[in-house]
Amino acid sequence: MPHDLINNRKAKVSADCKNCFGLCCVALSFAASADFAFDKGEGTPCRNLQTDYRCGIHKNLRLNGFRGCTVYEYFGAGQKVYQGTYGGIDWRNNAAIAQEMFAVFPIMQHLHEMLYYLYEALSIEAAQPIYKDLEQAAQETEHLTYLSPEAILSLYIPSHRDKVNDLLKKTSELVRSKAKNSHHRSARKRKMTKGRDMIGANLRGANLRGADLRGALLIASDLRKADLREADLIGADLRDADLRGANLLGSIFLTQVQVNSAKGNRHTKLPPSLRIPEHWLISEII
Ligand code: SF4
Repeated sequence: MPHDLINNRKAKVSADCKNCFGLCCVALSFAASADFAFDKGEGTPCRNLQTDYRCGIHKNLRLNGFRGCTVYEYFGAGQKVYQGTYGGIDWRNNAAIAQEMFAVFPIMQHLHEMLYYLYEALSIEAAQPIYKDLEQAAQETEHLTYLSPEAILSLYIPSHRDKVNDLLKKTSELVRSKAKNSHHRSARKRKMTKGRDMIGANLRGANLRGADLRGALLIASDLRKADLREADLIGADLRDADLRGANLLGSIFLTQVQVNSAKGNRHTKLPPSLRIPEHWLISEII
């Protein structure tokens, strides 16, 4: 599939705060913790949300105790609900439908998340044998995002998600089997990645090329200089994982938010669609 087309589709499931109306800063709840400086209930606007729907501490979220906001991904669902589902109606001036909007938002978020991964799969050359199925699933999911609020609220997401998930797993197998063929999969690697819980694990310099790390708990693990090329990182929890000098080129299903939640430096190699977070560079200076 042409890269321009994929990039256009991906842009639609990427955060675009200037075309949103602070929905994630209102609809969702959070509790005072290491990630949030205070409690906030569902449907209550965050006290840092300004009248122009911008965050008043956007440039210093981490310094102000809101690390959670820097690692939250809503996959562009807010702008779709605002501009698409509700045709530009503002929750502030329409209390009668605000609660409904807040209920539609997380469902849209799930749908956009599926689209994000499907579009990525459609950009991977190794997934060519299943492009037709991936495209069909993408079109079906896109269709669901344009339903009325009532229809969205009555969707049963798990069955659709299972279908999408099967295709993403097939994509993963196609990518990783290529890596395995070009690189012997050692018994040591199997041992290292056995099970999902690798919290605090010492994986420094590990050969994890083509590893299945779906949903792995890699919190605070030491992945310095690890080889993660062609690894499947969908849903992997990388909070505070140390990725300094790690090679993630060709890794799949990695999101910017997962990267933001980890530690790294300018020597960390990321897939081209992702960027080095500013805080990685600042921590180098400090
Ligand atoms: S701190 Fe800023 S980004 Fe986080 S919820 Fe509040 S307004 Fe939104």
